Amino acid sequence: MKSPAFDYRRAESTEQVFEWLTREGDSARVLAGGQTLLATLNLRLSAPALLIDIGGLDALRGITLQGNVLRIGALARHVDVEESALVARHAPLLAQAAPHIGHRAIRNLGTFGGALAYADPAAEWPACVLALGGTLVLGGPRGERRVAAQDFFQGIYSTALAADELLLACELPCLAAGEHQHFSELARRHGDYAVAGLAACARPGNGGLQDLRLVFLSLGDRPLRAPRTEALLQAGPVTDERLAAAEAALREEIEPFADLTHSVAAKRQLAATLMRRAVRALVA
Ligand SMILES: Cc1cc2nc3c(=O)[nH]c(=O)nc-3n(C[C@H](O)[C@H](O)[C@H](O)COP(=O)(O)OP(=O)(O)OC[C@H]3O[C@@H](n4cnc5c(N)ncnc54)[C@H](O)[C@@H]3O)c2cc1C
Repeated sequence: MKSPAFDYRRAESTEQVFEWLTREGDSARVLAGGQTLLATLNLRLSAPALLIDIGGLDALRGITLQGNVLRIGALARHVDVEESALVARHAPLLAQAAPHIGHRAIRNLGTFGGALAYADPAAEWPACVLALGGTLVLGGPRGERRVAAQDFFQGIYSTALAADELLLACELPCLAAGEHQHFSELARRHGDYAVAGLAACARPGNGGLQDLRLVFLSLGDRPLRAPRTEALLQAGPVTDERLAAAEAALREEIEPFADLTHSVAAKRQLAATLMRRAVRALVA
């Protein structure tokens, strides 16, 4: 299928984008890497009258270290994150997750900001950014504002971005001393969207875990934390009994959505498997 007709404008500044978004309202869409937007146009799932290409806005590129914060520009491509030495050192969770995003050709074009703004609950970056305690930097005609990841993802394909705002960057606290990070996912074939996935961070010590964050993807309408399971796992050394109790808590705590191939029960089982793997990796 071919996309419906649309107007195309290439922006030369963020101010121009804000002006066009303000004027055109919901009939305009921002075009970043196009790896999702163009597919939805071709499938006629979306029919904006205007595409605003932000690909020329160099201010939105780049991965930089600012004190103890890693800042990733919205236009950093998946491959830039995957290959960044700064990311490998200060946010290794992202380096572990990147190879799971589609295939190389998609990672060469798709952007970090595009995946966060689109907020697909099966996407890797939203879960990672939530697990890392990241902050999203939004820009619009009223200036800049910062939104914590836990408030940014609001439902399926739904975020805190207003219609006239752009995601400019994402800021992540750097890996803390002694912190371990772990990402794993289960997919039918490598490169497919995950059936279930888990982004996890913690500080191991005395046989147990502190500051544990477990964030699941592909289970609900947004990346999902499991606070009761986290609390149980942090209450003492990680033993077989504690893991079994944590698995029981997790099965009660999460309410996964079924998808075309996996039932709710199957998703609960996969989540439990991922949790056990993550805890063993983090505590090691
Ligand atoms: C075959 C295939 C497999 C894929 N597999 C995966 C996968 O396993 N995991 C995964 O996470 N993704 C996957 N993707 C999607 C891919 O990661 C996309 O790159 C990503 O979801 C969107 O990034 P983009 O730069 O291409 O955004 P675009 O397609 O250009 O835009 C996507 C949406 O975000 C909005 N947007 C983009 N940038 C901004 C911004 N800076 N501010 C505000 N709004 C913005 C757009 O208006 C649009 O609504 C796959 C895609 C394909 C085609």
